[in-house]
Amino acid sequence: MEKREVDLEVRNLRKYYPAGRRRFLKAVDDVSFTVYRGETLGIVGESGCGKTTCGKTAIGMLPKTGGEVFFQGKDVHRMTKKERFDFTGKVQMIFQDPYASLDSHQKVYQIVAEGIRIHKLASDKEQEQEMVYELLNMVGLNAEHAGRNVHEFSGGQRQRIGIARALSVNPEFLFCDEPVSALDVSLQAQIVNLLMKLQQEKHLTMLFIAHDLSVVKHISDRIGVMYLGKMVEMTDCDELYDNPLHPYTEALLAAVPIADPDLAEKRKGIVLEGDVPSPVNPPAGCRFCSRCSRRMDICLVEEPVMKEISPGHTVACHLYR
Ligand code: SF4
Repeated sequence: MEKREVDLEVRNLRKYYPAGRRRFLKAVDDVSFTVYRGETLGIVGESGCGKTTCGKTAIGMLPKTGGEVFFQGKDVHRMTKKERFDFTGKVQMIFQDPYASLDSHQKVYQIVAEGIRIHKLASDKEQEQEMVYELLNMVGLNAEHAGRNVHEFSGGQRQRIGIARALSVNPEFLFCDEPVSALDVSLQAQIVNLLMKLQQEKHLTMLFIAHDLSVVKHISDRIGVMYLGKMVEMTDCDELYDNPLHPYTEALLAAVPIADPDLAEKRKGIVLEGDVPSPVNPPAGCRFCSRCSRRMDICLVEEPVMKEISPGHTVACHLYR
């Protein structure tokens, strides 16, 4: 089997926040995964499951509590100033809220040109301008938009500006943190399709965080499912949809409308009950046990660990011992 090159290697990552006397909110608790070069890894889960914190900690936007993260072999949390600078040229982010992530009083040109200047990618003003216009074209805007202020644009257009800004430094890796969840449904597909097109053209690696499984399915090669600070299942996109193993994944999938009547019938009746428990005081044993219709005695006392059930398909559940 061909050996795949690794871009991001996350090992036993933990991110805890103090929550009172000797108590911690365990936002990310012992999570491991790999993002291979050129692939899109989607991470899904309900709001509060830790997926955004996991992504931000994995790319060094947040300090870690424990574990290790390597980007192209370099320890993300122990970089020299020079390594950090190179890293910011290779790894870029696209954020959830295009209203908050861009300064609404800045001109589009300034926003897109900033990275080009910081990383000294243009030899003169003329080349810089050419690069900015090309980036705007690439994301479906044009040179005319460059002289306008961000506040003149709609949410979808702002997200396109955010994507042009991210691409301005020729990154190799994009961290997309719920990039379409603040947009109208009609705009979501446009932005997801744009990201897919750019990924193909520029051979980007992507870590794509979202709570909407249908969005993640569309864009991802592989998907990891997170629940209450833990990764509970990870596999190829089609395998996850055709053969989900973890009861939480099954419940998430049951909520997604599907055209296949046989599959729809199979998934009927799998309902996610109750709310996500607090990550400050997660249930002992399996963290999903308070909501799982298939729990057994062992689930209450012993925490399941991730195991490979078939090639590339891992799950943390006592049903698969
Ligand atoms: Fe349900 Fe037990 Fe599996 Fe947890 S380990 S998901 S409680 S069956």
